[in-house]
Amino acid sequence: MELTFWGATDDVTGSMTFLHTGSGYILIDCGLAQGDNDSEKINKLIPPIEPSTIEAIIITHAHLDHTGFIPRMVKKGFRGRIYCTPPTSKLMQIILMDSAKLNKEDNFYDSKDVNISIPLVQTYEWNEVFEIAGAKLHFIPAGHILGASCLVVEKDDKKIVFSGDLGRFDDPILHPHPYCPEADVVVMESTYGNRVRESSLHEDLEKFLKKVATEKRIGIIASFAVARGQTLLTLIHQFHQEYPEYKVRVVMDSPMMKAANNVYKRYRDLTLYSEDVYDALSDIDAIEFQKEWESLRKKEGPLIIVSSSGMLTGGRIGRYLLNWHNDTKAILLLAGYQGADTPGRSLLAGSRTLVGPDDEVFEWNGEIWHSDAFSSHADQGELLEWVMPSQAKKVFLLHGESSAKEILKGKIKEAGIKEVIIPARGEKFKI
Ligand SMILES: [Zn+2]
Repeated sequence: MELTFWGATDDVTGSMTFLHTGSGYILIDCGLAQGDNDSEKINKLIPPIEPSTIEAIIITHAHLDHTGFIPRMVKKGFRGRIYCTPPTSKLMQIILMDSAKLNKEDNFYDSKDVNISIPLVQTYEWNEVFEIAGAKLHFIPAGHILGASCLVVEKDDKKIVFSGDLGRFDDPILHPHPYCPEADVVVMESTYGNRVRESSLHEDLEKFLKKVATEKRIGIIASFAVARGQTLLTLIHQFHQEYPEYKVRVVMDSPMMKAANNVYKRYRDLTLYSEDVYDALSDIDAIEFQKEWESLRKKEGPLIIVSSSGMLTGGRIGRYLLNWHNDTKAILLLAGYQGADTPGRSLLAGSRTLVGPDDEVFEWNGEIWHSDAFSSHADQGELLEWVMPSQAKKVFLLHGESSAKEILKGKIKEAGIKEVIIPARGEKFKI
């Protein structure tokens, strides 16, 4: 077999790795580069393998940096099948439809290309074996988000495991995922290869919820619409059940989050607290019409608003920030990592200037809270704990800033796997 590395080599996003099995090409993940100034340039590069010759695309999970290039591949001639788990298929449709709206410019792709892509999807459950290009494949759980998987590929006497994105072992609503199975080669992510999570998610969220309730504040939570939103809404629901004295009105304003809620409800049995997930996502007070939004504008605290996007790059959150920007007691909670060149990151760097939904420039005068405890990625210790049982001869590291990859490389070698490689874009390796 032969691996050709392409996406997520010099960067954290845009996952894309080609595997030639000896009889055909498989593409593992087909993501869009996003989040920094080079993304646009990277997305314009032509992948090294002609799309019409790729037999199948395997998707580990629904995030845009693992799926967002699919409609582009289809537009360029890919007509094979796309394989993933059933929840990934549903979440991916929501994410790609949203992405189509943002990528219409320059004729990159649009909803027509997404509509051609979706019928190519074929789903398999975890551990169900399927065959492509003479290789046997199956998915195993990866934690991270609903439906997320690692991919195991076996051909002749060789076994390769692709990690996809790995979750934490103590995810608040997902079951802990298994360690990496024994393998010859492991291709793994290294996003938090240099980080050890220190803050506690439950503590950080409780502090915020109690403050909003007791001091009658306006609390605005910036959240990703898919996965983070459902986790937060479930945790808020659980907290209010446990401490009714702190219960306040919670509203959600994000059509994409609402759509993702339905997928989480449908597959709630894959979560740790299926009843809580169902109740939290069923009872939520969703703002859908202009009239409801108008009625909120004059409201005083306590009130909690959950909206997207998580890094303030778009979505409906802007209208809440604009509405309460002069309320010095309002709290904006940035629930997670803030990418380079995003408004969220510039707030953390000390700026207070934001741009509203109709390009209004304003200063945010409320408080800003940030917690990295909400991350759905394994940290350094968890990445090591996951990979070492594989007893792999070779580990390839992707999906991390270079310092994260270098530091994790050192740790893995120290733990006993001698050959750890950081591949460059376009580099090929015989397996
Ligand atoms: Zn992910």
